[in-house]
Amino acid sequence: MAASLLPRGASAAGRRRCPAEVLRRLVSSEAAADRGPSRAPPEMPPFDHQPRPYAGMGAAEIFEKRKAVLGPSLFHYYQKPLNIVEGKMQYLYDEHGKRYLDCFGGIVTVSCGHCHPDIVNAVVEQTKLLQHTTTIYLHHAIVEFAEALTSKMPGNLKVVYFVNSGTEANELAMLMARLYSGNLSMIALRNAYHGGSAGTIGLTGLQTWKYPIPQGEIHHVMNPDPYRGTFGSDAAAYAKEVQEHITYGSSGRVAGFIAETFQGVGGAVELAPGYLKLAYDIVRKAGGVCIADEVQSGFGRTGSHYWGFQTQDVIPDIVTMAKGIGNGLPLGAVVTTPEIASVLSQKIQFNTFGGNPVCSAGGLAVLKVLDKEKRQAHCADVGAHLVERLKSLQDKHEIIGDVRGRGLMLGVELVTVRKEKTPAKAETAELFEKLKDLGVLVGKGGLHGNVFRIKPPMCFSKDDAGSESSPVFKVPFNCSIARTNYEPNKNAVYHRLLGGRHGLRNVRPLNENASPLNPQFLQPQDMHGLILKGR
Ligand code: PMP
Repeated sequence: MAASLLPRGASAAGRRRCPAEVLRRLVSSEAAADRGPSRAPPEMPPFDHQPRPYAGMGAAEIFEKRKAVLGPSLFHYYQKPLNIVEGKMQYLYDEHGKRYLDCFGGIVTVSCGHCHPDIVNAVVEQTKLLQHTTTIYLHHAIVEFAEALTSKMPGNLKVVYFVNSGTEANELAMLMARLYSGNLSMIALRNAYHGGSAGTIGLTGLQTWKYPIPQGEIHHVMNPDPYRGTFGSDAAAYAKEVQEHITYGSSGRVAGFIAETFQGVGGAVELAPGYLKLAYDIVRKAGGVCIADEVQSGFGRTGSHYWGFQTQDVIPDIVTMAKGIGNGLPLGAVVTTPEIASVLSQKIQFNTFGGNPVCSAGGLAVLKVLDKEKRQAHCADVGAHLVERLKSLQDKHEIIGDVRGRGLMLGVELVTVRKEKTPAKAETAELFEKLKDLGVLVGKGGLHGNVFRIKPPMCFSKDDAGSESSPVFKVPFNCSIARTNYEPNKNAVYHRLLGGRHGLRNVRPLNENASPLNPQFLQPQDMHGLILKGR
């Protein structure tokens, strides 16, 4: 049996546990009935890896130092943030050697698996030989990588600019759109996330990420969200609204349109079928170019296609990518047509690290691994299995309002009242903590923080997703939180609880809560009328 099933330093409670079964025991009212001392908690799927002993700084000390020396806008997951010290494929290990099933891949970034040997090898070998020169000299790695990347693109998307992140990729794409079209107006979707720089903050359509600075000439059109959107899945109705923005809100000419086909930060929202084709037609007629933000949905993660935009049968003019492209390396890319790319030659466009030898060698290794291990097909297979299980959970549990997505790009939206789709913010936060305690790390998203995002490294297996005998996700969504009437005199208690549980500083009394908190967190007002059972 894998040594890591009994990691050093893991508490008895943290060992030999299959997350779903333990979760079922902890949080499911159904499961409470069959809870019994004789039933041993099941185990995580076997995995042959022994984490190294860790003797470094502990979580509490790091957390204190981080608060002192790093910017206060940084947020963290969990009441007691995890100190993750090692990773191997779809598993992570904390400072005590406890193994976690990583269902979020460092925010949809670890595509092939943590420390995948082929990628580590490519990076190490290149680092030993030459770590950095930049594009003022020639190097084979950048062209090999660019050739391999463009071979994955449809149409005339044949020219690459390498950058370091998704934000940089979208900045550059917006610049190209404006220069190429000669127009200024950009169209983006509400509920989108495209970056946190001064320019891309404007494209982002979620108030929680937008600082009060000039937002640029951006029109945020209605989100074609089949679950929450005003027109449901009616792509034509949403597209009409794009035309209306152009007609009434712009000069009639626009620079471009940008969309994620599967919104990530916005809560794993897949756009209404057929929407992009209609929107692209409208935008192109108004002189604009169409940008697909594939920062999260590219590289086969959706299972059915290599790129998210292909699920809508369109070919964009510009594609931006990051995250999974580097399996954790700081790497991003903008791929476009030779004609659009040429607009940047009016001036010098330079990026010191973009396409440096180490990232290029790593990026090339990522593409090879995804092909060699047939990860797209794997995502389709495992994702279908997981969706089936999650949907059967939805049949049983009122709190699961929606199960959506494709491949290993999934979302589970929790609501307190299904008919009204009331976001189950506090319940999500509570389950989120409990899942972690049980060894399952998922992501959280959506404006209200009520969507679990399940986007693991693509090596995530059916056993991880939950086999018949080891149902990792069998009953994770039944919740032990009960609603009750709001009691004003408990106000302070709720705030202390909230501040402590979520590591928030400066949590203010409800009526003074003016500062927007990050959507990843429960917000103070969320505690209205909620009492956590058993606390
Ligand atoms: N686009 C999308 C769709 C993203 O999810 C993100 C990051 N969450 C970005 C752009 C920005 O990427 P980065 O954080 O690498 O700048």
